[in-house]
Amino acid sequence: LIRLAAPGFRFRFHPEFRLRSLLRRRRMAAAAGTARQAGAAPRVGLLYDQRMLAHAPAGKKEKETPERLRAIWRKLAAEGVTSRCVGMRAKVAKEKYIASVHARKHVDLIRKISSKDSSDLKKTAKKFDSVYFSKGSSESAFLAAGSVIEVAEKVAAGELSSAIALVRPPGHHAEHSKPMGFCLFNNVAIAANYLLNERPDLGINKILIVDWDVHHGNGTQNMFYSDPRVLFFSVHRYDYGRFYPYEADASHVFIGDETGRGYNINVPWEHAKCGDADYVAAWDHVLLPVAEAFDPDIILLSAGFDAEHGVIIWVIAASLQMDMHCY
Ligand SMILES: [Zn+2]
Repeated sequence: LIRLAAPGFRFRFHPEFRLRSLLRRRRMAAAAGTARQAGAAPRVGLLYDQRMLAHAPAGKKEKETPERLRAIWRKLAAEGVTSRCVGMRAKVAKEKYIASVHARKHVDLIRKISSKDSSDLKKTAKKFDSVYFSKGSSESAFLAAGSVIEVAEKVAAGELSSAIALVRPPGHHAEHSKPMGFCLFNNVAIAANYLLNERPDLGINKILIVDWDVHHGNGTQNMFYSDPRVLFFSVHRYDYGRFYPYEADASHVFIGDETGRGYNINVPWEHAKCGDADYVAAWDHVLLPVAEAFDPDIILLSAGFDAEHGVIIWVIAASLQMDMHCY
């Protein structure tokens, strides 16, 4: 999560961070006096909680595993990032916040899922697209949603300059009434809705959600498709609908509906050869000008890293040609 007005935030562990224009714009915002804590050292929150490792697949076939979070934590620790951040612990999300974007039936399913025996877990998972459940799924899902609320709230309140929540299960494919694509609750949508509707005192009226995962953020798009308070930007591999989640609504012509028309932006790559230069071009020529015009009060980033060159999903090389330095 990056508060647009927060000065000084940069990926210090990353010597070749290339989106200089983003930093330039942020410095301009700070110079204009919009930063709440101008002059103060940036405080970056980092939330990690091992309880979210309890959601785990039975076999080795699945690609969304606890190791995904452990690997990120190990890398951040090795680079000295963890000791420079403000450590945060996960919080369980209240059901009413989750039910603000999900059907009650869906919330009930995820709450109760871990009480089922293993054959029931498998049987239930088969009803959905690319989902698994385990004994730890219920708690992990409520913690993931609560964690994103927690970091978003602290940044919105000005207690932190920015913050990162390492959470799983992930969220951007989860729809109003169903889990999907390893995602149980739509964590970023729950947090956005919390800021907009539960905490008017924080003054967050406009939210930009940026989703750079290699897959389209279908669930997030649908949840705010008619809502002009949320500008959703997703850059993803599309292949004319032949790439997961195989829906036409990942195309660039889906721009929002009713008063939300113009507040949904898809940048769909048509093949797997897109890489750093394409991403920088999309950022410089699409995202940043639009973000500047929209002038969000906070930015929520759905930071999937599977567009990186060499990432294998299922049995094929599903990634794009993104270099890790470009992130
Ligand atoms: Zn993905």
